[in-house]
Amino acid sequence: MQETWDLSLIFAEESQMWEALEKLKADVKAFVETYAGKLTTAEKIVACLDEQEAFLPTMGNIWSYTGLAVEADYTDNALRERNEKIGDEMTRLYKELAFVDSEILLAPAEELEAAVKLAKGCRVYLENLLAKKAHMLSPETEKVLAALGRSFEVPYEVYNTLKLADIAFDPITVDGKEYPMGYSLYEDDYELEADPAVRRAAFRAFYDTLKKYENTTAAAYNACVTQEKVMSELRGHKDVFDYLLFEQKVTREMYDRQIDVITERLAPHMRRYAKLLQKKHGLAKMTFADLKIAVDPEYDPRVTIKESQRYVHDALSILGADYTDMVDRAYRERWIDFAKNIGKSTGGFCSGIYRQNSFILLNWNDRMSDVFTVAHELGHAGQSMYGDAAQSYYDCDPTMYLVEAPSTMNELLLANYLLETNEDKRFRRWVLSSLISNTYYHNFVTHLREAWYQREVYKIIDAGGSVNADILSDIFRKNLELFWGDAAEIPEGAELTWMRQPHYYMGLYPYTYSAGLTVATQAMLRIRKEGAPAVADWKSFLAAGGSKTPLELAKLAGVDIGTDGPLNATIDYIGSLIDEIIRLTEEIDGIRL
Ligand SMILES: [Zn+2]
Repeated sequence: MQETWDLSLIFAEESQMWEALEKLKADVKAFVETYAGKLTTAEKIVACLDEQEAFLPTMGNIWSYTGLAVEADYTDNALRERNEKIGDEMTRLYKELAFVDSEILLAPAEELEAAVKLAKGCRVYLENLLAKKAHMLSPETEKVLAALGRSFEVPYEVYNTLKLADIAFDPITVDGKEYPMGYSLYEDDYELEADPAVRRAAFRAFYDTLKKYENTTAAAYNACVTQEKVMSELRGHKDVFDYLLFEQKVTREMYDRQIDVITERLAPHMRRYAKLLQKKHGLAKMTFADLKIAVDPEYDPRVTIKESQRYVHDALSILGADYTDMVDRAYRERWIDFAKNIGKSTGGFCSGIYRQNSFILLNWNDRMSDVFTVAHELGHAGQSMYGDAAQSYYDCDPTMYLVEAPSTMNELLLANYLLETNEDKRFRRWVLSSLISNTYYHNFVTHLREAWYQREVYKIIDAGGSVNADILSDIFRKNLELFWGDAAEIPEGAELTWMRQPHYYMGLYPYTYSAGLTVATQAMLRIRKEGAPAVADWKSFLAAGGSKTPLELAKLAGVDIGTDGPLNATIDYIGSLIDEIIRLTEEIDGIRL
């Protein structure tokens, strides 16, 4: 079978893409002539947005066509040049279209309110602009801010340049053998390495190298959060949290609850899991450097791509025939790029083409864990399929708060299916510990510790203070010690984990991972218990896209995130998974906690 994706699903021939670009340019030109300078009435505003909706998907298609080709092979200079050319064209077109939002924001409030009533596909889009209008400054000031827009990105650019271009790691030597060292090598391999000598030597080398760059990184980060504080004041928000949560449509209470409840109630379960790892691996001392190892590293079930289709199809069949049809189409029509080739983007992602199909990039390694990646990314594809069909181009994208719910739902369904269809104890333990060490660790531990840390930073910033490397390290050390208690020692260097995440430059993003997975876990438990009605609710959740607030969306799936019920039930569920791993380890290895 073909292991690469088929981008001709977007344009059968490249020439069609260039033709589409020419037509798009003509459409935009005519559009600007019709509407620029005229968006003062409700009727004009709605007509303008409706007309714009007709060609916006084409912009996405063109950009996906050239951009995805580059993602699959960064070493192909011709593809990169083509993509850069398209990037320039798109930037120009977006600039020409910028009048739409800015004129709507300047329109009289009563016209904007009337437009909301009149609107169909663009109603939520207009409501969002109306909410934003309350925080707008004078047109001159907005112009200045827009002109300075690029410079607001500098902290993140400095961070990324430092991380991707400047930081250099020396190879490490363990027992006379030399090992190469690098940022993603550490995060993808050494952190999970079963040999404690290699793992800990890599830990030391990794953090010792990070340490050399701590002051520059801290300065960039301080600039980022200080800018956010300034913007929150300029735009008249109560505080920096209010400013950052504004676009997410999430209350401070929901945000705090996620961080506080998980920190307090998940910690005891994760400490038991750490103790199990320690016993299973016979470690005299458990440290932060050992937390990501597998319970059973020698056990690594292998799967072919062909077999993966059957696993994913059967596991997701609980969601109905329309869902499994999508799974089969994804394989048959080649939506997925499995191939491992030089120059390919790392990690997995899913990119949707509005009202068509999605494209999924991953690096297939013949491992059962890759099947989880396929199921995960198909969850995003499923969201696009239902959301696109039911929503306008403006409202189809899910909100950040819930963006990982459909994908993690599929991981959970796959795990359940594997547990139901295989009696082998070692396999079952592998499935359960994958859920803990991948799905829940990533969303409920790694990103949640980041969220806890971020909140402390923003408290300082909000009170008018600033941060430096020492302060950030103190916060992060306290953060890790608070969560792991006596179950894992926090060695020197671990406090520099604040240097590792690009998410810190994206506002209050890290905590949302656990929010999406909370909704997915509760909806999954409902589906298992109630069957069809819960599946129907899940599909209406998917179909709602981003047309409602996170609270309303979760309600569609039958989950009330206005209370701490779903979060507590999810933590109990995680605890029950860990109990089962401990029980199986007792049976398999005779190891008792
Ligand atoms: Zn995802």
